[in-house]
Amino acid sequence: MRNVVVTGGNKGIGLAIVQAILEEHPDELVYLGSRDATRGDEARDGLVRAHPEWKERVKVLPLDVQDDASVAAAARSLEGTKLHGIVNNAGIARGPRREVLDVNVLGVERVCTHFLPLLERGGRIVNVTSAAGPSWLATQPADERRFFLDANVTWPELRARVEKESAVAAEENATYGLSKAFANLYTLLLAREHPELQVNACTPGFIETDLTRGFLSSGQSAADAGMKPPAAGARAPLFLLFGELEGTGRYYGSDAKRSPLDAYRAPGAPAYEGP
Ligand code: NAP
Repeated sequence: MRNVVVTGGNKGIGLAIVQAILEEHPDELVYLGSRDATRGDEARDGLVRAHPEWKERVKVLPLDVQDDASVAAAARSLEGTKLHGIVNNAGIARGPRREVLDVNVLGVERVCTHFLPLLERGGRIVNVTSAAGPSWLATQPADERRFFLDANVTWPELRARVEKESAVAAEENATYGLSKAFANLYTLLLAREHPELQVNACTPGFIETDLTRGFLSSGQSAADAGMKPPAAGARAPLFLLFGELEGTGRYYGSDAKRSPLDAYRAPGAPAYEGP
């Protein structure tokens, strides 16, 4: 058995990723991360009820990415376990700016810092970011774009910038895009610091979940709004976990093709081939 951790695995895209791994990779055991153990147990029970044969292959891992002690305890509980991959899927789109940045950016760093020692050589880190990152960056002035495209950025620089941005007042959409641009930049940094691993990011696509349902106008269906079911959101993350990758430190679209960090590429459009 190989092992994969999925944060925010109790619902939405995270749960779809857990399910897709169990379905498509019979030699994998999945640690279903959940900040609430009961919600994690319920998600696991649902999977095992439908597929009793998965009983030994899915375990709940209590893990709140905002709480360093919780992340440390989760990593400690897996001591001695070699991980094939970590999927940083937990995320939020609404709430105070500081909290969105804390979950979507600092949360990813907390998990990587505590779980990295468990990863096997050549192991994979998959950061589920969003097309909101490149779309936000596309609207920014040149010096801002330079910062968010700088693969030589250091963690203290990135951390200081997150702290500075946390204190700024801004509307929710811009905060979400900013948080995902930061998470994409962190992907570049981590890939540079860990050439022995494969560290990449992707957008899952526009997926119907609790995170997006609020965007529907009354009477509008998810399909009418262009949203796909959660299973479709697992495609790119699974490719980054198990597919044949050409490199590390890259960002992919929901069609599992490379995309630029500073412009939106629609699924099905030619893959990005730049630096
Ligand atoms: P969702 O249904 O709201 O699920 C979010 C998951 O993250 C839940 O399991 C949630 O746990 C968990 N989470 C939130 N804060 C957490 C924390 N502090 N610690 C641990 N887990 C936490 O949203 P989703 O659409 O599946 O989103 C999953 C990821 O995809 C996010 O990173 C999101 O930004 C990204 N994404 C989604 C879309 C889309 O169209 N849906 C598009 C682009 C990117 P609880 O159940 O306890 O709240």
